[in-house]
Amino acid sequence: MQDSAPFVVAVVGGGPAGLLAAQRLAEAGCQVDLYEAQATVGRKFLVAGHGGFNLSNAEDAAPFAARYAARQPEFTRYLAHFSPTDLRTWAADLGIVTFVGTSGRIFPLPEHKPTHLLRAWLERLRELNVTIHTRQRWLGFAPENGLRFRHETTGQELTVRPQATLLALGGASWAKTGSDGRWQPELERAGVPVVPFAPSNCGAEVAWSAFFRAKVGRQPLKNVALSCAGVSVRGEVLLTDYGLEGTPVYALTPQLRAALATGGPARLHLHLKPDLPPAQLLEKLRRRRAGKSWASFLGEALRLPPPVPTLLRELGPSVFPADAAAVAELLSHLPIPVRGLRPLDEAISTAGGVAWDAVDEHLMLRARPGTFVAGEMLDWEAPTGGYLLQGCLSTGAWAARGILRMSELANE
Ligand SMILES: Cc1cc2nc3c(=O)[nH]c(=O)nc-3n(C[C@H](O)[C@H](O)[C@H](O)COP(=O)(O)OP(=O)(O)OC[C@H]3O[C@@H](n4cnc5c(N)ncnc54)[C@H](O)[C@@H]3O)c2cc1C
Repeated sequence: MQDSAPFVVAVVGGGPAGLLAAQRLAEAGCQVDLYEAQATVGRKFLVAGHGGFNLSNAEDAAPFAARYAARQPEFTRYLAHFSPTDLRTWAADLGIVTFVGTSGRIFPLPEHKPTHLLRAWLERLRELNVTIHTRQRWLGFAPENGLRFRHETTGQELTVRPQATLLALGGASWAKTGSDGRWQPELERAGVPVVPFAPSNCGAEVAWSAFFRAKVGRQPLKNVALSCAGVSVRGEVLLTDYGLEGTPVYALTPQLRAALATGGPARLHLHLKPDLPPAQLLEKLRRRRAGKSWASFLGEALRLPPPVPTLLRELGPSVFPADAAAVAELLSHLPIPVRGLRPLDEAISTAGGVAWDAVDEHLMLRARPGTFVAGEMLDWEAPTGGYLLQGCLSTGAWAARGILRMSELANE
């Protein structure tokens, strides 16, 4: 990069955003030290790998960026700079082959485990001379661009003075992975506005009756649609003893959160037969013979076996309607009152974080020139389906770009 001494950068936080930024900076010739509070890096990344590990999504650029809702303009830039295609090339360069699933989600081949990816990534960072300092908790800033750390085991304190800093400290869910949000007061003390954390992509709580909880327990409802505030999402919903889980519920957390913020319960609507046109649904329901119970008719004619009849009794009118049109309405708009969201620590991701007006177009903190932020610690949210990791990696790459620009200016 330059003939003189390398530009010295501290990356704080060893999640995907920090690791990718460290790689990009080291590849460009910077001297990179990465500080991580836990004994190992990438813990939440490995947790993400326990389920269906989707790294990104093959959706077109415009609808992809729209997944970041109000932050669409910013993410259009970040995704153009480090796109899903770039992500696949990057993974391939680490020896991890990816494929596009039928849903459009991008996965590593089943034999290419998240641990393999992380191991290859860390080996690459080692080759690039990135020094990883584990068990070093960032405590806050010190004068003259200083960063204060405390060793989590020995308690020894350390102050470093890099030429630039990237904070990639993650959100505030799954605290056991290290993403505990404890950085919030430190940034606020430094004059950085932080939007309060809230759960995103999490389950919803429903006050089921004791009878329902005992009878239904935990059961899936396949091929259904859930809607809230005019947004409808298809997929599988899991009934649990405390409420609902599943992709459609997660995707509707922004709408549920907004409805709950008004003080009352929020309402989801469940469509149990979203593939059946309304006229066909009605026609099928009209074929029920007198005397045939609704429970067995729904199971046989509409393939709506238990627990659907119990669910209809739980959420529908106290007297089950006899009229086919009223039953059709119930099957396609079953109201579910949601009394709250599951706790933040259980959530797949975090809404809230460093406010957008706290950063400039390079993701540098306005209150602290030379300090950049990336990943989930910024105030954005997106649904599951690969948009979270892609968002973290793209913001990491974008912040690294900003730091490299700063190093070039310092060299002029
Ligand atoms: C169950 C689950 C499943 C998921 N599945 C997927 C999926 O399939 N696809 C997808 O796209 N996303 C998925 N995600 C989300 C994804 O894992 C996160 O969005 C991503 O890891 C966030 O990356 P990050 O680098 O911003 O932060 P993190 O990965 O949270 O990393 C932040 C790091 O900073 C460290 N740190 C925090 N504070 C300090 C401090 N004061 N000093 C030093 N270090 C500190 C932490 O220990 C941590 O290592 C899943 C998440 C969960 C919980």
